[in-house]
Amino acid sequence: MADKRDKATDQMQLWKENRGTQKPDVLTTGGGNPICDKLNLLTVGPRGPLLVQDVVFTDEMAHFDRERIPERVVHAKGAGAFGYFEVTHDITRYTKAKVFEYIGKRTPLAARFSTVAGESGSADTVRDPRGFAVKFYTEDGNWDLTGNNTPIFFIRDAMLFPSFIHSQKRNPQTHMKDPDMVWDFWALRPESLHQVSFLFSDRGIPDGHRHMNGYGSHTFKLVNAQHEPVYCKFHFKTDQGIRNLTVDEANRLAAEDPDYGIKDLYEAIANGNYPSWTFCIQVMTFEQAEKYPFNPFDLTKIWPHGDYPLIPVGKMVLNRNPTNYFTEVEQGAFDPSNMPPGIEPSPDKMLQGRLFAYPDTHRHRLGTNYLQLPVNCPYRARVANYQRDGPMCFSDNQGGAPNYYPNSFSAPDVQPSARESKFSVSADVARYNSSDDDNVTQVRNFYNKVLSEEERLRLVENIAGHLKGAQLFIQKRAVKNFCDVDPKYGSRVQALLDKYNAEGHNKSAVKTYTQHSSYMTAKDKSNL
Ligand code: NDP
Repeated sequence: MADKRDKATDQMQLWKENRGTQKPDVLTTGGGNPICDKLNLLTVGPRGPLLVQDVVFTDEMAHFDRERIPERVVHAKGAGAFGYFEVTHDITRYTKAKVFEYIGKRTPLAARFSTVAGESGSADTVRDPRGFAVKFYTEDGNWDLTGNNTPIFFIRDAMLFPSFIHSQKRNPQTHMKDPDMVWDFWALRPESLHQVSFLFSDRGIPDGHRHMNGYGSHTFKLVNAQHEPVYCKFHFKTDQGIRNLTVDEANRLAAEDPDYGIKDLYEAIANGNYPSWTFCIQVMTFEQAEKYPFNPFDLTKIWPHGDYPLIPVGKMVLNRNPTNYFTEVEQGAFDPSNMPPGIEPSPDKMLQGRLFAYPDTHRHRLGTNYLQLPVNCPYRARVANYQRDGPMCFSDNQGGAPNYYPNSFSAPDVQPSARESKFSVSADVARYNSSDDDNVTQVRNFYNKVLSEEERLRLVENIAGHLKGAQLFIQKRAVKNFCDVDPKYGSRVQALLDKYNAEGHNKSAVKTYTQHSSYMTAKDKSNL
């Protein structure tokens, strides 16, 4: 092999070498029948036509026609790897979850990192939040922490999720990304300001997947053996150090090496350079939550470290590449509703929405029995329940065990120690408008206290460089929101927009909209 080639590039060669002197397998149909010719169709004479009895051809072609499963609507482009979690600090006073049982305990896990808005063939180096999903295979079943590389999100009410994603994906007519749609949504929903400010900061383009933090993002509950709950947040801090790409470097890689993130992770693991993250929690008691000035279940807000310090818990190490991408990564189904005893949901409205949405999408994408697939199967627990049948059931379908409950025949029974913690709720049922629930204080802290002056300048450049593509009335609304965070933040964005607009960047967009929109009201026109 040539010196410059890496392990990812050499995968085929290495696979062959790993087989050593083992003879090639006999080629077969899907049904296992040996095949004598894999190059030539079965035809009437050398010029055809072909025969339907060429089952060697139809068997493969029919399978090929069905190769693609529905792409994930979000997080379609991803990289996966396997490894373990090791406990380094005792937190059993907070949780009975078996994954945290004792110091030194190791639990196998699967991880998947992804972009959000792009399709499965899109570039890894785009400005986008990164998915950071981890599936812990515990003895009490799987625990899936389906987080991001940011501790917050754009919205706080799950009702907005489909519209938010539509606005960030493709225009329904042009099938192109559309700055009007992106910024219209963000500008109309100022709760997005915190996440938008993260996204356009340097951390908006991580250098691959190893050099970024992960966050469970939502507030969860931890419950101990005495059934006492606390609220908590989960953090993965990269041991590789934070590293980001410049805009120019990211653009170059998007053209020349669009799978940069997948490759970087694969290479590191293949070379024994196993990436790791230090896992920490923040803890808030119920009493503290009552008195806290912010809603502690609001996904657009963090818990300040000064008030709720990070408590170290363990380490996540990734030390195995997938053996097959489709089987182990594309079919990987992460689901926040997979929670073993000791970990429970908080009232976070986004989390509650995801508890439904994630398993629902997996049933659509992979089928009713997706939890039987090896990568999703809670293989360290024994699944015993009253679910039966459905398409592609390939387990023993729980044999002759009774399929109804209760029953008198020694079939699976409940485990009292798995009882959820009690909590009381009392309020009027209504659709509560949370759009104005302090959208700026934490963003102001981020802009003024976390970012350096150079980082602030790059942030406003990145924002203006994207916002310039939206119409003027949308620009105006967005700038007003940035001004609400800090007048300097808004005026810096406006100054750059003035420059771009004077250069005429926006003229054609405004003209096109005016000419083609027969639905424009007088107010819309005056907004221009
Ligand atoms: P701290 O000073 O204790 O923490 C600041 C945090 O900001 C650190 O976690 C740091 O991560 C992170 N950070 C630094 N640069 C960026 C960036 N460009 N994008 C995103 N995060 C970045 O302050 P507080 O806990 O009081 O929080 C202050 C503000 O910091 C918050 O309002 C929020 O905007 C932001 N923040 C807070 C986090 C939290 O969970 N408390 C987490 C991330 C951001 P690191 O230590 O890895 O460098």
